[in-house]
Amino acid sequence: MALRPRASSQPGKLSFLQSPKVALALRPRAVSSRSGSMLEEELSCPVCCEIFKEPVVLKCSHSFCRACLQQFWNKKKARRECPVCRRKCSLTEPTVSLALKNVADTFLKEQERKTSPAGTAARLASLQQEDEEKRELVKKKSDSITRDILTFSHAVIAIENEIASSDALFLQVRGFEMFSSL
Ligand SMILES: [Zn+2]
Ligand SMILES: [Zn+2]
Repeated sequence: MALRPRASSQPGKLSFLQSPKVALALRPRAVSSRSGSMLEEELSCPVCCEIFKEPVVLKCSHSFCRACLQQFWNKKKARRECPVCRRKCSLTEPTVSLALKNVADTFLKEQERKTSPAGTAARLASLQQEDEEKRELVKKKSDSITRDILTFSHAVIAIENEIASSDALFLQVRGFEMFSSL
């Protein structure tokens, strides 16, 4: 089978999906109504049809999740071939594609945050928690302000008392002075 360039992988991918051998290895795609973007297409593992997890790249330049490829190879013990183009791979470990992994991870994070119901729920929950934390913070703030006001008014009262008592003392002294000068 001829190796197709990655960019025009759509027809090749479809015929690959129709292959019964591979169809057995396929898991149903996660329920999703959104139309897959080009990027998602490019970042999807041909075996599990999910976004790559720890993508490895074979000599034929096809990429798969490490686990998916391992699973595929475990099924056909003797021959290590590419699940897509059937090209024989050497016995060396497939290379982890770090760039692809980073892009896939970022894409997954973005997707989780934006679209998936679980992600939305998680985001909502985190927003709620954030909200609660903020409310808690505001409460703490206003509590401490109230405390400050109370402390301050206590201080004012204390000062007033002090002034009053020193006034009294002053008056007493003045009164004594006046008395003794008589
Ligand atoms: Zn996979
Ligand atoms: Zn291949």
